[in-house]
Amino acid sequence: MLIVQKYGGTSVGDCSRIENVAKKIVSVKEQGNSLVVVVSAMSGETDKLLGFATYLNTLPNEREVDKVLSTGEIVTSSLLAIALDKLGYKAVGLSGRAAGIITDTAHTKARIDKVNTEIINNYLKEDYIVVVAGFQGQSIDGHTTTLGRGGSDLSAVALAGALKADLCEIYTDVDGVFTTDPRIDDKARKIDKISYDEMLELASLGAKVLLNRSVELAKKLNVKIITRNSFNDNMGTLITNEEEIMEKPIITGIALDKNQARISIVNVDDKPGIAAELFTSLANANINVDMIVQTIGRDGKTDIDFTIPKTDIALSKRILDDFKHSTQSVEFDEDIAKVSIVGLGMKSHSGVASKTFGTMAKEGINIMMISTSEIKISMIIDLKYAELAVRALHSAYDLDK
Ligand code: ADP
Ligand code: MG
Repeated sequence: MLIVQKYGGTSVGDCSRIENVAKKIVSVKEQGNSLVVVVSAMSGETDKLLGFATYLNTLPNEREVDKVLSTGEIVTSSLLAIALDKLGYKAVGLSGRAAGIITDTAHTKARIDKVNTEIINNYLKEDYIVVVAGFQGQSIDGHTTTLGRGGSDLSAVALAGALKADLCEIYTDVDGVFTTDPRIDDKARKIDKISYDEMLELASLGAKVLLNRSVELAKKLNVKIITRNSFNDNMGTLITNEEEIMEKPIITGIALDKNQARISIVNVDDKPGIAAELFTSLANANINVDMIVQTIGRDGKTDIDFTIPKTDIALSKRILDDFKHSTQSVEFDEDIAKVSIVGLGMKSHSGVASKTFGTMAKEGINIMMISTSEIKISMIIDLKYAELAVRALHSAYDLDK
């Protein structure tokens, strides 16, 4: 079998952990498999490197930032190759560009366009264990690019797809995908199998165990993912097609996102074109608007509420300054959280909304905004009730049993 494995930052956090990872790899190699291993930077490294760049310039050139950040993963890939060599195995460390990963030119958030597989395939033919630096590639104009936070997950899935690997194993610091973040609720249970669609929702709604873009790509390329713990040998979570999942609970998991902020535009003119103008100017600045609620107009005025990533607050303040003339006030609220329940079973069961809102009511938690899709319900609530809401919903839907 050809197996692509990915090890996250904690799993390669120091030399003894890198030795532990090397032993894991060797045991898989010994069973007659070929291996391509993607590694993250040692935990804390990326932030440290970014700190250097922003110390020198608060708005550093992104092309150069990418070169600086990419070194974190390159260091780990070669350290792991050194550890494998010591155990008596042929291993080579490759940067993203040396591994043939080609991206677009969007520095700090590049997309993978294609993978030139000859380089890796040649090493595999010569029985090398290939260790690839995650999170990075090379743009068509020759510069190093990075894929954004969590990007090593994407590197692993893209390589697994391009190399037609039999399996993509994502090793992290928990046993797999849980019914909710085990750090928030210690009653969270590990899920054995989950569909791409549910995992994509959970990842997009705050479960950082997998990068949402990697799940999307895995579904498209039909890559089977298993998330596992690098610190034990437990069976992980299989992420696969819906058809392969027999047991379909109504609710599969609960996600929490604390990185959103709410903007309220109060008493804006209630006439055609206002919302279009507002959201076009935000879109032009690449601000990703998530939930939107507009109240029914009264006396020619209305309120528009929406959420954006917290990191875009300063930028949206600037944009909304131009908008003030036609509105009474613009309010910003950073103390919010988005709690979401996700499950395929919602498609065919009624009463999920009433049970969810009832659970919030019982805890005395006010819901500020709601949005739904076929397989999820998201609610914006006060930040201070975030964990309480997660635990209450987790137990209301018997996810702890
Ligand atoms: P890595 O560095 O290995 O990529 P991450 O920190 O990105 O690891 O992701 C693993 C973390 O994701 C876990 O430590 C856990 O706290 C968090 N997490 C959030 N939601 C979930 C979930 N539903 N299941 C498992 N882990 C989750
Ligand atoms: Mg991660």
